[in-house]
Amino acid sequence: MQYQLSEEQQAFQQEVESFLAEHLPQDLADKVRCGAGVSKQELSAWTKTLNAKGWAAPNWPQEHGGTGWNLVQRHIFDVACRQAHAPQLSGFGFNMVGPAIIKYGTVAQHDQFLPKIRNADLWFCQGYSEPQAGSDLASLGTRAVRNGDEYVVNGQKIWTSAAEDADWIFALVRTNADVQQQKGISFLLIDMASPGVTVEPLYAFNGKRLWNQVFFEDVRVPVSQRLGEEDRGWTVAKSLLGDERLLVSRVAENKRVLKVVRQALASQAASGLQLPSGLAAEADALEIRLQALEMTSLRILTEADAGAQIGAEPSMLKLKGSELVQDQDELLFRIVDYLVLPQDTKHSERSRVGPDYAEYVASGRYHHRGYTIAGGSSEVQHNIIAKQVLGL
Ligand SMILES: Cc1cc2nc3c(=O)[nH]c(=O)nc-3n(C[C@H](O)[C@H](O)[C@H](O)COP(=O)(O)OP(=O)(O)OC[C@H]3O[C@@H](n4cnc5c(N)ncnc54)[C@H](O)[C@@H]3O)c2cc1C
Repeated sequence: MQYQLSEEQQAFQQEVESFLAEHLPQDLADKVRCGAGVSKQELSAWTKTLNAKGWAAPNWPQEHGGTGWNLVQRHIFDVACRQAHAPQLSGFGFNMVGPAIIKYGTVAQHDQFLPKIRNADLWFCQGYSEPQAGSDLASLGTRAVRNGDEYVVNGQKIWTSAAEDADWIFALVRTNADVQQQKGISFLLIDMASPGVTVEPLYAFNGKRLWNQVFFEDVRVPVSQRLGEEDRGWTVAKSLLGDERLLVSRVAENKRVLKVVRQALASQAASGLQLPSGLAAEADALEIRLQALEMTSLRILTEADAGAQIGAEPSMLKLKGSELVQDQDELLFRIVDYLVLPQDTKHSERSRVGPDYAEYVASGRYHHRGYTIAGGSSEVQHNIIAKQVLGL
């Protein structure tokens, strides 16, 4: 199957690529290309650049600062950004709570949060998972007890990414324990500076602070900070991603990683290293999988743009896209080989053993293991497909 971009789509692609060439700082792109961390300050600056152009929130309605692009245009934009090694904006604000505030928020909540999210002046994190509630999220136990025009919140969240940088957290809390689990949950927006909120780091085995635990001890949250109706937070949580659920294939990111794989193969060969045979063929096989994923993704996006119903497609795209990133990571790890070893600076004047892209390959490989867990594990996606497609 061939998916050919129309002339109009190609012109749009060109416009995006020109903008990136002109405005994306080279040092920032270099960091992203290597897989190095990007600071909050750098991400804020890039978000502001996109916001000034009107491109920070392509998925939001135009009246709230969106671009009015359809899904295929958003896909093209995404791919162009990743190909240029632009950093990804905060998904918590732009893809999760922003659209939820637009759909369920009051006018006051729109005014309070949306412009600040768009300009990276306010950062959110996501408080869903708890020690005893992950895949089975509806069993969450953080309690919010109504006291006049406030809730008093007690409980604990875990695996909260970027809580250390967040100004606010959107949290699912139990407001009614006497009904079916899903019917007693509310969706609260909580200021992280509220008395009684504490954040403790959780480190991944690559040494990075990937997550946090967030504790709530008698935290008083105004009722006006609830999104949607009381006990109807599950509906808000379910609709959180809307059409966004279809943009989970990681095609753009996979293309970026493939570029690094190709670069690594070429530069290892050029340096005279004897690479194990068959690595190039493995890269070709991954590229074929990526092309199939992109075709499928574009076909589904085109159908959705034309008004088709969305079923289990997001699960399928998430499954295939996240597994592909991990398989590319594995190949990259094998190509780069010993160059991923940390440099013993005591015995060398050089700052690193190999080329810059090699430095973060190992930590990237471990970091991306989380792709098949976060946002619904692969097993859970298989269950959804089995139920919705196979009728099991
Ligand atoms: C990188 C990363 C970032 C994250 N960031 C956040 C965040 O910012 N905020 C947040 O709230 N959470 C976050 N999470 C948590 C994430 O949402 C949970 O890890 C995920 O929902 C799985 O829950 P769990 O870890 O409790 O595992 P469990 O639900 O206990 O699952 C354990 C294992 O059992 C399998 N399993 C569970 N149920 C079934 C079933 N019905 N059928 C078959 N197999 C099943 C799972 O697939 C998994 O392999 C993050 C996770 C990762 C990895």
